[in-house]
Order: sequence, then structure tokens, then C-alpha cells
Amino acid sequence: MSMLDWAKRLAASDPNPSMKTLGLNGPQNVKRSEANISLKGDRYNLESIKVVCNSVQFKIDTKYLDNWAAIFRHGFFDVTSRYRDIKKNKIWKEIYGVRSLSWYKINPKTFEEVDDDGEPGNPFQTEFVYCRHCGLLIPLYVASVDHQAPQDGGMNKARLRLFRALGCTVASGSGKKSQAMLTEFFRDGMKVVDDPPPAGSRDDRYKLNVFGMFYYTVMASAPEGLKELDKIAMHSGFNLRPLCPPCNSRLQNTNYM
Ligand SMILES: [Zn+2]
Repeated sequence: MSMLDWAKRLAASDPNPSMKTLGLNGPQNVKRSEANISLKGDRYNLESIKVVCNSVQFKIDTKYLDNWAAIFRHGFFDVTSRYRDIKKNKIWKEIYGVRSLSWYKINPKTFEEVDDDGEPGNPFQTEFVYCRHCGLLIPLYVASVDHQAPQDGGMNKARLRLFRALGCTVASGSGKKSQAMLTEFFRDGMKVVDDPPPAGSRDDRYKLNVFGMFYYTVMASAPEGLKELDKIAMHSGFNLRPLCPPCNSRLQNTNYM
């Protein structure tokens, strides 16, 4: 069931559901006096969404729910059981500046310059990417794929990073990746907020804005909604970055000469 369907059901069952939010310490309930949602419509037609936060009123375009659902359903970034497959994703490659360069290998026995198939010949084109920890340029095929917010204990951070990538935190991300993703969503007409959030402090980058609180509330009330959120937040391109093998190893710097 899509987010839009679920929001319609929510509107039909409770026009003023209490709001939930997410912080670095985990999910929290929002006091009605601080923020609340009014949903107008029924299970067939959701007419309007209004969020009042600290006496300021916001309208949320119902079309944004379709966009949100589409981003999750089609996987703006893939979720695969093999993380390395993200290296084939076009948008991920764009964001990390993957580029083709002229290259050759050598035959390890004869030291002769050879192409990708081991045949003597001209240099061949292969894709390269920068390690996001040390900055080294390496062939994409040897790059490791790392979970930016770690699988062990990083769930909450991963969720917040996902919301931030969608423009749903008080302050936007400062990194190139966040900026590139927001641009992508707005360019494709896939936006889920009116405007990208301004730059701000670290605290504000990890705090949901009214849009974020609204989507989180709807997701939290949908069956399997949070499970879906967690899967995308942790295992999609939102949370995966390229590293060179030494940087992705426990040996870290001891691996260098
Ligand atoms: Zn590195």
C-alpha cells in the first residue's frame, strides 16, 4: 500500500493523529501543543494536509505523498542484497564522480602492456572513483562499498540521513552528496518539500522539519512502514559510499606503505 493510500486511511480514521518525530536518540512523540496534523478528506480522496508547528501553519501538497511513495517503491537508489551492485547505479555513480579514464594493465609474466582482455594493444577505458576517506583515485571495480552510518548501531543516524537527503530536516546536508541528491529530486519533479532547507548547525541537520515529522508519522502508522524505511535508510545508495580497500579494512593506515 502506498503512502498516499495510507494517509487517506489515516484521514478517514483520525483527522488529527498525534505526531511522531525522530531524533538522534530515536523515535519520539510530539506534544500536541507543539505540533499537530490535520488531515481533511476520506479514504478515497485526501483533500488537504495541514501541519501546525509552534503556531506556524504549513500546508503539505498531497502530490508529495505520491513522490515519497515513488522514491521508496522504485528505489531512487537500489536496495540489493549485494551492496557492491550499487556501483552499477547511474545516479550513485554521478554523485561520486565516477569517470572513465584511459588505462592499461600489464601481463604479469612478460610485463607487456595489455588491454582488459590481456591482449597486447592500446590502452582501454575503465571507470575510476575517489575513495571517500583518503581521496585516492582507484578503479571502480576494486573499490569497496561501505555503510556510512554503520550497520552496527548506526540505524538511527541512517534514518536521519535519509530524511536529510529528501530535504526533510531543519537544516540541509553540507556535503556534496546531500546537495546532489536534493538537486536530483527537484530536477526530476520528485520533490517532497516546498524548498530545500537552508544550511545550519549539526543539531539541525539531524532534526526533522515539519515535512519530515509528517512523513515519519505516516510511515510509522503504516504496516511495515518503518521496516521499509529502515531497509532503504541502511542498505540503499543513500548510505553507501566508495572506499579504497585499505580504508575499508580494520587495518586502516597500517595497510599503507
Ligand atoms: Zn582510502
